[in-house]
Amino acid sequence: APALSVRDLRKTYDNGVQALKGVSLDVRPGDFFALLGPNGAGKSTLIGIVSSLVNKSAGDVEIFGVDINRQRGEAMRLVGLVPQEINFNLFEKPFDILCNYAGFYGIPREEAAARAEEELRRAHLWEKAQVMSRTLSGGMKRRLMIARAMMTRPRLLILDEPTAGVDIEIRRGMWKTLREINGAGTTIILTTHYLEEAESLCRHLAIIDKGTIIQQGSMKKLLSQL
Ligand code: ADP
Ligand code: ADP
Repeated sequence: APALSVRDLRKTYDNGVQALKGVSLDVRPGDFFALLGPNGAGKSTLIGIVSSLVNKSAGDVEIFGVDINRQRGEAMRLVGLVPQEINFNLFEKPFDILCNYAGFYGIPREEAAARAEEELRRAHLWEKAQVMSRTLSGGMKRRLMIARAMMTRPRLLILDEPTAGVDIEIRRGMWKTLREINGAGTTIILTTHYLEEAESLCRHLAIIDKGTIIQQGSMKKLLSQL
C-alpha cells in the first residue's frame, strides 16, 4: 500500500472557507515528499487531516492502507507530527522531554531511554541531553522537535513548515537530520514554501494552490519543465 493515499479530499471550515477542493495524491513508502505552496493554499489543513487533528468534510485518506476514519487509532500510531511551533517545556532537559513523551505513549522506561539516546544522537543533540532546553540554540530546539516525534517510531513523519523563518545554517542542520531519518526508512512529508528546500530534500512533490493540486510528480521532472 502507499504510505499515503488521498482521494478527492475536501474541507470546508465552519466559516465557509473551502480550504481543500478535491485533493488527490499518493506518496510511496520510503519517499521524501514535499507539499509546496503559498500561504493559505491548504497545506496545514491537508496535513492536519492526515494526522487526525482536523476532520475532513469528504474524501478518503489511507496511511499504509489504514483508513483514518474507520481505524483512527491505528492510523494515528503510524504517523509522527512535527508542529510548526516549538511546544516542549523549556524548563525540562531534552532527554526527559523525549522519555516523558514516550511514556505518554505507553513505551516502557528502558526502551524509552534507549530510543532517546538514539534520537538525540541522530539529531546531533546527545551532548545537550542534560542541559535545560531553554539554553538550546534555535536550530537545536527545532531538531529536538524532530527527535521527539521519532520516539514513537512512526512509519510516516510529517512536518509543517519545519524551517519557516530560520536561517540557512539552521536549515542545513535540520536537513541533515531529516535525510538520516529518511535514509533509515521512514517516509517523510513536509510542507514548505521554499522551492529550494523541496529541491534539496525531496524526490517527489505536489504543488497546491487555493485548495487544489496544480502539479504533482518527481522533483527532477518538475525542474526540467521550469
Ligand atoms: P497553508 O498551510 O497552506 O498556509 P491553511 O491550510 O492553513 O493553508 O489554510 C487554508 C485556508 O483555510 C486559508 O484560507 C485559511 O485562512 C483557512 N483556514 C485555515 N484554518 C482555518 C480554521 N480553523 N477556520 C477557518 N478557516 C481556516
Ligand atoms: P544550529 O546552528 O542549527 O543552531 P548547532 O549549534 O548544534 O545548531 O550547530 C553546530 C554545528 O553542528 C554546526 O556546524 C552544524 O553544521 C552542525 N550540525 C547541525 N545539525 C547537525 C546534524 N543534524 N548532524 C550533524 N551536524 C550538525
